[in-house]
Amino acid sequence: MKIITVIIPCFNEQDVLPIFYQKMNLIMKQVKRVVVELIFVDDGSTDSTLQILKDLSKQDLRCKYISFSRNFGKEAAIYAGLKESQGDYVAIMDADLQDPPEYLPQMYQILESEEYDCVGTRRANRKGEKRIRSFLSSSFYKVINKISKTGIVEGARDYRMMTRKMVDALLQLGECNRFSKGMFSWVGFRTKWLEYENVKRAAGETKWSMRKLFKYSLDGIMGFSTMPLSIASYGGILFCLISFFCIAILVVKNIFWHDPVAGWPALMCVILFLGGVQLLCMGILGQYLARTYIEVKNRPVYLIKEVSDETIKEKKLILHEPDDSTNSDYHVQNIRRIYSRV
Ligand code: UDP
Ligand code: MG
Repeated sequence: MKIITVIIPCFNEQDVLPIFYQKMNLIMKQVKRVVVELIFVDDGSTDSTLQILKDLSKQDLRCKYISFSRNFGKEAAIYAGLKESQGDYVAIMDADLQDPPEYLPQMYQILESEEYDCVGTRRANRKGEKRIRSFLSSSFYKVINKISKTGIVEGARDYRMMTRKMVDALLQLGECNRFSKGMFSWVGFRTKWLEYENVKRAAGETKWSMRKLFKYSLDGIMGFSTMPLSIASYGGILFCLISFFCIAILVVKNIFWHDPVAGWPALMCVILFLGGVQLLCMGILGQYLARTYIEVKNRPVYLIKEVSDETIKEKKLILHEPDDSTNSDYHVQNIRRIYSRV
């Protein structure tokens, strides 16, 4: 019997979680001869999300939760879920039902029967999204695919199912500035894409403001390309050449036509322009340096405040087991032992 772990990052999702669980429960009943465990990651919610997760984990042993000490962001929540996951297959999905759970059985079938390590999903179109947001998103994909060697599929969602092999590869990337879309593609492995129309949130509100999205896209660009640094240096070379050329013109004009440079405004324009370019280049450098600084500090990506009882029990069982307890077979046995009581 195979185990599928589904990771669900949750940040203030009290309105949608009961609907989500209901729907997931139906799907979990549909998949036969497979155990599905749900790992909810409470990303420092300030509403009653954690309470709902506690109740769920009490009434259904397949539901576990990890609760962060504060909001660390969806990327950190995904990382925590991947680390805790023990299934043969691992899926990531949002709590708001924008990632339809009906696709899970199909994803599992594909991974079981075809030569793929990952089944990803992408939106067929951007219907129902604000025009400006669609424009900015598609520009982002164009830019990042031009300047980065890691190809990122336009409209790809984080909703996907992966094999243990791919998850183990992902877990080797322990960086602080995490950009999953890039990491999924960086680790390689064969991915099959399923397309579906954009679905509206079942309840609650989006947690992504324009500012957050902008920061996220910068993380993506800086995390997977050093091209902006090269643009800064090539720009520097270009401006040096232009200035040499201008100086030569002025010298020649003065020598042959006795026409010295006149014009304070022109000078000011050039100074201001070059000052701006210099600051921009320093800014680009600064962005990379800031990310390097954060990475060098090597702080944990997230901090756990509490986890569900079952997660603790499993850990204790594993800790008290003899030497070979660290092998993944044992983890799987453990989960099976627990689920046999469900
Ligand atoms: N999320 C999270 N931490 C955050 C923001 C979002 O764990 O800081 C979760 C959220 O609960 C949801 C998923 O990430 O399950 C996607 O968020 P949302 O639906 O707000 O994003 P959108 O679908 O609008 O891009
Ligand atoms: Mg959503």
